[in-house]
Amino acid sequence: MVLGAGYAGLHAVKQLVALQPDAEIVLVNRDVYHYDTARLHEVAVGRTDPSEISFNLRETIDPSVGLIVDDVMRIDHDIRAVELRNNGLVFYDYLINALGGATSTPEVPGASENAFPLITLDDALRARSHIERILTDYRVSQNPYDLRIAVCGDGFSAVAFMAALVHQLPILTKQFGVPADKFEVHCFASNPNPLYRFDPKLTEWIMEFLQGSNVIFHGSSRVTAVGPGEVHVGNQVFHANTIVWAAGIRGSEVVPISGYAQKFNRVIVRDDLSVIEADGSWPREFVIGDVSAFPNPETGRVYPATAQLAIAQAECAASNVAQLLKGGRTYRFDYKPYGTILPLGPHSGVALLQDSKGNYTRLKGAKVRLLISRMNKDFRDAID
Ligand SMILES: Cc1cc2nc3c(=O)[nH]c(=O)nc-3n(C[C@H](O)[C@H](O)[C@H](O)COP(=O)(O)OP(=O)(O)OC[C@H]3O[C@@H](n4cnc5c(N)ncnc54)[C@H](O)[C@@H]3O)c2cc1C
Repeated sequence: MVLGAGYAGLHAVKQLVALQPDAEIVLVNRDVYHYDTARLHEVAVGRTDPSEISFNLRETIDPSVGLIVDDVMRIDHDIRAVELRNNGLVFYDYLINALGGATSTPEVPGASENAFPLITLDDALRARSHIERILTDYRVSQNPYDLRIAVCGDGFSAVAFMAALVHQLPILTKQFGVPADKFEVHCFASNPNPLYRFDPKLTEWIMEFLQGSNVIFHGSSRVTAVGPGEVHVGNQVFHANTIVWAAGIRGSEVVPISGYAQKFNRVIVRDDLSVIEADGSWPREFVIGDVSAFPNPETGRVYPATAQLAIAQAECAASNVAQLLKGGRTYRFDYKPYGTILPLGPHSGVALLQDSKGNYTRLKGAKVRLLISRMNKDFRDAID
């Protein structure tokens, strides 16, 4: 049984079909469609139609795979069953848990109610229709806060969203007849710079890019609460009628109720991506993608949640299930990231590429565009 039809779950299914054609494979997902999480910001700003980043699972997964469209509520490891909202208990022999991430809004008072997260396609569509409504309202209200968007967060998804937004602004302001020069994008970050732990030279360039696009950066400004149209940083209150929450992710809410060893709802896995069985027997479950916490052996820090990592883990987990089915030993997850590619709108980006010897190459600007198209195509090829 595979839980979640994101990059991790779908790549695992594809691999299992190839490696274990005789196995009964069941995929459980909340929706009947897959969406490309790494492109949600494009939908949120109105640049990309949802149909471009999603597809119907029934039309794409191998016909031998059973699809259950339902919500996973809990995993009962003692009886090896998954509890689904509508279908009750479904039993498994082997489980690949790829339930993905959830927003970190619960950690900040008022953020869940008053800010738009960017974790699911529904989130992106809600943010988009809010932005369109508020731009329409401005023509009557003339309220300057209608033209202010506050982005909470300074990681990759926050930067990708802001870059997509500033690129889309001329189109949006023209479409809704609002003055482009009065539009403001503010970024609230707990760190002094965006992408604090990323390559300093590229971060400097990203900062120039954003500031050159009139993004106002509030560094060392940890958001402590969010109210209706209000971002609170300690005692200071900042007004904006659109607030986007892109300040990190946690793992799925299913994790804490299912009794896993975890950190921020991300399951701590062993070096073969398995979790320890309650009775100490050989592994029956692998946890991959955003819902797993796998440390980089060199730094000891958990790898950031990326589609690249999710797909690599899916490959390993599917091979490990196949190994167990034939009585073999599992493989250690050996991750060789090719680097980081960050889109800054449709025509620009930055890339920090790593070769097999560990040497880095930095790229920035329009030449990264082809790498971004290639990356998005590779993600699709892994799951389609
Ligand atoms: C705006 C943005 C931009 C990004 N850009 C990049 C990028 O450029 N490069 C990169 O490598 N990474 C990027 N990422 C990160 C990347 O998208 C994630 O790391 C990746 O999607 C993780 O894949 P996953 O399969 O683990 O989870 P997901 O893609 O989140 O899939 C999880 C699946 O599980 C389903 N699900 C969740 N809970 C339940 C439940 N209880 N019951 C049933 N089904 C459930 C969901 O509906 C979903 O289909 C970006 C993320 C965001 C938000």
